[in-house]
Amino acid sequence: MHGEVEDVAWIAPRMVRIVLGGTGLRGFAVNGDTDSYINVAIPPAEAPYGPVFDVDEVRATLPAEFWPARRRYTVRAWDEAAGLLTVDVVTHGDDGAAGPWAASARPGDVLVFSGPSGGYRPAADAAWHLMAGDESALPAIAASLEVLAPTARAVVRVVCDGPEHEIELVSPAEVDLLWLHRDASPDVDQLAASIRALPWSPGPVHAFVHGEADEIRGVRKHLLTDRGLTRADMSCSPYWRRTMTDEAWRQVKRDFVRAMEDDTP
Ligand SMILES: Cc1cc2nc3c(=O)[nH]c(=O)nc-3n(C[C@H](O)[C@H](O)[C@H](O)COP(=O)(O)OP(=O)(O)OC[C@H]3O[C@@H](n4cnc5c(N)ncnc54)[C@H](O)[C@@H]3O)c2cc1C
Repeated sequence: MHGEVEDVAWIAPRMVRIVLGGTGLRGFAVNGDTDSYINVAIPPAEAPYGPVFDVDEVRATLPAEFWPARRRYTVRAWDEAAGLLTVDVVTHGDDGAAGPWAASARPGDVLVFSGPSGGYRPAADAAWHLMAGDESALPAIAASLEVLAPTARAVVRVVCDGPEHEIELVSPAEVDLLWLHRDASPDVDQLAASIRALPWSPGPVHAFVHGEADEIRGVRKHLLTDRGLTRADMSCSPYWRRTMTDEAWRQVKRDFVRAMEDDTP
């Protein structure tokens, strides 16, 4: 599957919104998960194939140096009637494949991808919702807030670089939102600390905790060991890891997740 860039808009100094359209999206569908993600394929600059390609064929027929880099991006919105797919991409300098691709994307550019997959939607029977993460989790958090009932309540804690990196989040629900600024406090524990400091509301909570690996690990540990949540009460995964490319991260992610499991009873 592939989309053609129809629109590019900077929604924060390091976050670019890409809207994809075109006939290559025919057949795309989401199932209601608000963390649905696609697996994009970014070819290297010297790729000897065109902008629309078959990932499996490239991998089967060309040396690894020509294989596209695979990265996961949340479906921020899918407008089925208009056939438009929106993703919000964090840009983080010249390193990497997807960030630089998004930063220089222009209308007409093509993005090849597979998916979507996903697994979370705020539970309708939760007494309240906790959503925590960084900018990479913002598309899922934003999409999740939009589908809450007007009677729902959500507590949202998001790490970003500074005030100018905050984006507008819209929800019919009652939302207690706090932005945590990395520039002011680079401590990886600040996300967990903000949740430890919360006055805990009664009733079952449904949590969504995704983002940088070390930041979300502390949150998960606190929720499971101190707040009595079970694994089923939360959707939690380390989306990316500081100082590691996604390729390097995928190599060690299994061990990291195993160690994270050992953090908790
Ligand atoms: C299911 C899932 C959904 C995701 N959804 C989104 C999404 O909607 N939007 C989004 O922006 N990201 C999202 N991510 C995270 C994204 O896939 C990673 O951040 C990815 O590593 C970015 O690839 P890259 O090619 O730009 O950089 P890489 O080549 O992977 O890394 C290059 C360097 O940049 C650093 N880096 C990577 N990501 C970030 C970041 N976010 N901030 C600062 N430095 C970074 C790395 O640590 C490394 O040092 C998602 C991840 C998963 C698993």
